[in-house]
Amino acid sequence: MPDVIFEEIECKSAITRVSAGLNIGFRWMLNPYRGCQHACAYCFARGSNERPGYGTGRDFETRIIVKVNAPEVLRRDLDREGWRRELIGIGAACDPYQPAELKYSLTHRILKALRDYANPVMLVTKSPHVARDADVLESLAAVADVTVSFGIATLDEDVWRRTEPATAPPAKRLHAMRLLAERGVRCGVLLAPIRPGLTDEPRSLEDVVEASREHGASFVHDNVLYLRPGTKEWSLPALREAYPHLSERYARYYRGAHAPRTYTQDVHRTVEELRRKYDMAPPGRALPSAGQLQLAI
Ligand code: SF4
Repeated sequence: MPDVIFEEIECKSAITRVSAGLNIGFRWMLNPYRGCQHACAYCFARGSNERPGYGTGRDFETRIIVKVNAPEVLRRDLDREGWRRELIGIGAACDPYQPAELKYSLTHRILKALRDYANPVMLVTKSPHVARDADVLESLAAVADVTVSFGIATLDEDVWRRTEPATAPPAKRLHAMRLLAERGVRCGVLLAPIRPGLTDEPRSLEDVVEASREHGASFVHDNVLYLRPGTKEWSLPALREAYPHLSERYARYYRGAHAPRTYTQDVHRTVEELRRKYDMAPPGRALPSAGQLQLAI
């Protein structure tokens, strides 16, 4: 594990409005941390963290911005006249249960504030640490709409170890999913990023959907790998090193940020069939007004 620097800051507002025109299923998002110790090479959020003096490579993984006053500021935000208890997305830009949470408990205190104001939330994580908040999530689910999406792209241990080694094994995420689902929290799986030649085989996709269903997931959302500037420069060299035989294919597929449309459509079709087979809800029903959900994961 590399040394990590926590850069503590105070924020003026805890929630930020999603950019106009970006349809990601919620209009407000909250990220208690910026940067992510989970260090996935393909992370979409690397690009969104680009700013002067802060790189999208190792800086993103080892210089974690911590909004230490976010829970208190959120209470003020929720108390504002005119706030309509809109859905807030947590974890769209960085994992709210990365190891920093064990030190700061910001997500835990944020969920308590949301519960006290009965405010709906959609949370995304790759960490089983979310299960530590089973009590508060259960009580929040009793008063507002709550969904927890677990990012699981594959159950293949070799691919997991090589591409997201700082995350918990998929089996542990599934275990946490079951625990929350049994407490009445609506859980689903974010089958993403689906990576050409690595996690896109129908059998591999089905393994994730089937296991998620067995562990209490009621919806599945899928995303094909998206390599925006800032992410691509970091992700492609890492991929070339781990999987040299895929290098030429990725260079061809990712001249821009997106894989070819026909490829993406084929993948979505396969996932749609799995959704039907395992009686899983599409994201539109699980995530209020969700459209093209594009998250860090
Ligand atoms: S994909 Fe998710 S878990 Fe991985 S580095 Fe990005 S925010 Fe963290």
